[in-house]
Amino acid sequence: MSFRLFDAPVREPSQFVGFAGNTIDRQSENRADDSVDKALADPTTRLLLMNGGRLYLKLADGGFDPWYRIAESDPFSPSFDQGVLLGFSEQGPVLAVLAGIDAEQLPETVKAIDYRSVYMQGLIDEAAAGAMAQGAALLAWHASHRFCSKCGTQSQMRAGGYKRHCPNCGTEHFPRTDPVAIMLTATRDKCLLGRGRHFAPGMYSALAGFIEPGETIEAAVRRETLEEAGIRLGRVVYHASQPWPFPYSLMIGCFGEPLNEDIQADLNELEDCRWFLRDEVRLMLDRTHPDMLVTPPKGAIAHHLIRAWVDSE
Ligand SMILES: [Zn+2]
Repeated sequence: MSFRLFDAPVREPSQFVGFAGNTIDRQSENRADDSVDKALADPTTRLLLMNGGRLYLKLADGGFDPWYRIAESDPFSPSFDQGVLLGFSEQGPVLAVLAGIDAEQLPETVKAIDYRSVYMQGLIDEAAAGAMAQGAALLAWHASHRFCSKCGTQSQMRAGGYKRHCPNCGTEHFPRTDPVAIMLTATRDKCLLGRGRHFAPGMYSALAGFIEPGETIEAAVRRETLEEAGIRLGRVVYHASQPWPFPYSLMIGCFGEPLNEDIQADLNELEDCRWFLRDEVRLMLDRTHPDMLVTPPKGAIAHHLIRAWVDSE
């Protein structure tokens, strides 16, 4: 007798996207209001230091080291009262903490590098990049949710940074994750790619947009594709997801089957949008396209959607 009920992929596609290598044991059921204090008293605790969308990296052996011991973090004026407990690694507790000093004041041996560059350039290992995404999203949420949205009173961090409590009306606020649908519309022969106005030269990617309240993932995929490209979709299939700490999104990657061919691009959103044949997309993935057209880099979920389609022959 087999317990395999359907053809679920053996290799889960989400494992291979950027920020997916987080190995921290979150132990969410054990979070308490003194979780951060306990971690601060533990000599095995390591922390990530962040400020202004950048990670503070130590130069080490020709590479970068993102981890600090508590004693070692002193010169960076860390705001421990606003630190968040990400969870536990094999080495001990892991915190993400806002550094009190600006990038300009850093010693020669420490570089402040924005999250996007850290991930695009692969400056730290995948486990650390995953921890960075978790910490960056939480710190960004706290920074923009300091006051109770119900009564306006300044709220207080609780549960190791996984909650804010309003001392006036008692409302509890929880960190949010904003879902974004990203979809590759494709037939057997061709796929639909667009160019946003802010894209790097030559880059084409899958279309994307925020999922709205009251909408299923599939409905959002169909709506965005129709609004941005004038293409109606039939079947929509989920492929993979990616944590996206800009500031706290979850990218939800899908494939869509087009029902019509004529593109009507929304030129407010897109600079260009067109169909690409499989061979051309392969050249874009491999960075060998004669017109220097490219897909997003390897860590991006768009790259994985496009690669999965190209390899699906
Ligand atoms: Zn309140």
